[in-house]
Amino acid sequence: MVEEQIVSRGINDQKVVDAMRAVPRHNFVNKNMVHLAYTDQPLPIGRNQTISQPYVVAYMTSTLELNEKSRVLEIGTGSGYQAAILAEIAKDVYSIEVIEGLAEKARKVIKQLNYKNIKIKIGNGRKGWREYAPYSHIIVTAASEDIPKALLEQLDIDGRMVIPIGHSSWTQNLVLVAKTKDGIRREKILPVRFVPLIHEKKISRRRK
Ligand code: SAH
Repeated sequence: MVEEQIVSRGINDQKVVDAMRAVPRHNFVNKNMVHLAYTDQPLPIGRNQTISQPYVVAYMTSTLELNEKSRVLEIGTGSGYQAAILAEIAKDVYSIEVIEGLAEKARKVIKQLNYKNIKIKIGNGRKGWREYAPYSHIIVTAASEDIPKALLEQLDIDGRMVIPIGHSSWTQNLVLVAKTKDGIRREKILPVRFVPLIHEKKISRRRK
C-alpha cells in the first residue's frame, strides 16, 4: 500500500510514510472489509460514514507539517484511523465524533493498539474542543460550506488547518488555512470528496 499508493504519488515526508507503515489499517475497518483494508479507496465503516482512502489520509497529514511537539485537533474521528496516523507523529491528538457508536468503536481500537496520546470526545466538532485549545494543527475530515469560527479561534498563531470546503460532494476542495499574527491565509490544494460535516440542528437525530 505505502509504496504503490503513497510514495509513488509523491508523498515523501518520511514521518508520514513511516506512520502509514506503522498503523495496521485492517484493525480500523469492519470485519467483512478486512480483505480490502489496504486497497486504494475509501471504505464504509457503518452509519453511512467512510474511512478515507489511504492516499488522502497521507496527503492531509503531510500538508499539516506535524512534528513531535504538535497538538492536533481532528474533527470526524470515524474509524479512528486518521487519529492513529496523527498520533504516530504528534505529541497529542484530540478527536471529536458526533456519532456515539463510531466514537466508542474507535476508542476500543485505539486502546487495543495502545495509543496513549489520543483523546476522543462525542460532540459537535464545529464547536471545537475549548478545554485543550489552542492547537498547533487542526484537521477536519468531513466537508463543510464554511470554516467553523470556533476552529479558527482555537487554532494557534502559526498553526495550520486542513479542511474540505464545498457545498455538494462534487465540488469540494481541500483548503489549507494558515494562521499568522497578521491574519488568515487560505489556499485550495486538492479536489476531494468527503461526507458532510453535519450541523447542530441535524445532530440530535443522527447521534445514537
Ligand atoms: N477520519 C475518519 C473518517 C471520517 S468520516 C477516519 O479516519 O476513519 C467523517 C466523520 O465525521 C464521520 O464519522 C461523521 O460522523 C463525522 N462528523 C460529521 N459531522 C460531524 C460534526 N459536526 N462533528 C463531529 N463529527 C462529525
